Amino acid sequence: AKAGGRRTFRFFEPSMDENARARLQLQQDLRRAIAEGQFELHYQPLLGFSSNVMTGCEALLRWRHPERGMVPPLDFIPLAEDTGLINEIGDWVMRTACAEAASWPSNIRIAVNVSPVQLKSPTLALRIAGALAAAGLPPERLEVEITEAVLISDDDVALGILHQLHDMGVRIALDDFGTGYSSLSYLKRFPFDKIKIDRCFVSDISAGSSSAIVQAVVSIAAASNMTTTAEGVETGAQQSALRELGCTEMQGYLFSAPKPAAELHKLFATEAAA
Ligand code: C2E
Ligand code: CA
Ligand code: CA
Ligand code: CA
Repeated sequence: AKAGGRRTFRFFEPSMDENARARLQLQQDLRRAIAEGQFELHYQPLLGFSSNVMTGCEALLRWRHPERGMVPPLDFIPLAEDTGLINEIGDWVMRTACAEAASWPSNIRIAVNVSPVQLKSPTLALRIAGALAAAGLPPERLEVEITEAVLISDDDVALGILHQLHDMGVRIALDDFGTGYSSLSYLKRFPFDKIKIDRCFVSDISAGSSSAIVQAVVSIAAASNMTTTAEGVETGAQQSALRELGCTEMQGYLFSAPKPAAELHKLFATEAAA
């Protein structure tokens, strides 16, 4: 019976083992990526609807893995969050994005994604202030994007950090709006300047329900002094529907995919010439 038990144990073990090993490997690889500078940022333009001019860029993290090539953020950010490595990675993202943005035209903002895990660290606002100062970037040119998960956690530390940042002049955007479980009452408690409407509402904007949701978000935003950005705009039809509904800004492949910093300067030049 003992041998059989062991056999049963062995029968189930390999896949779990494999999983744990893959996770551990990824974790080691992540530490090495930080130490060896394997991360880079790509930037995706945000465009104002009224004038079609670029108002900012969102920094999106890329990992150039030595063996696996480009690893998409959603394949490693969850593990980075579980292990706390996101704090170190997030600090790198913030410093790099602010330094890069300091060389852009002064009307172009930089939007940086901040994980709910980073918002548990009471020194975050101080570290962001440090990144801004080191880059010589005015706080008004930084926008942090946070997801609804932060709201649900009902976390006073997160709320405090967001107020500190907002008081410094940093803008706060609520990312992926409509995908989480937050209630509208949170919009009043948190100092949001902007709501980013998730791609899922944009992709089927021609459907009545999505269009009604976008319309509702736009009016809530307007009534509370917030702007709205539509994410994942891919077609001209989506663009006109969103303009019609009164969205402030758009972002998506229709105008530009995320690009390395070097290619961005060409877009700035085109804008300036236009
Ligand atoms: P997100 O913040 O919602 O970013 C938008 C995602 O949509 C990006 O995916 C972007 O490349 C993609 N996208 C932009 N326009 C279009 C479009 O027209 N169509 C489609 N289908 N997709 C579009 P990406 O770069 O793979 O990033 C995925 C997520 O990873 C981000 O979602 C964000 O939650 C997270 N992330 C990326 N960089 C960072 C970072 O530096 N820190 C943290 N904490 N999270 C990050
Ligand atoms: Ca975002
Ligand atoms: Ca988003
Ligand atoms: Ca998203």
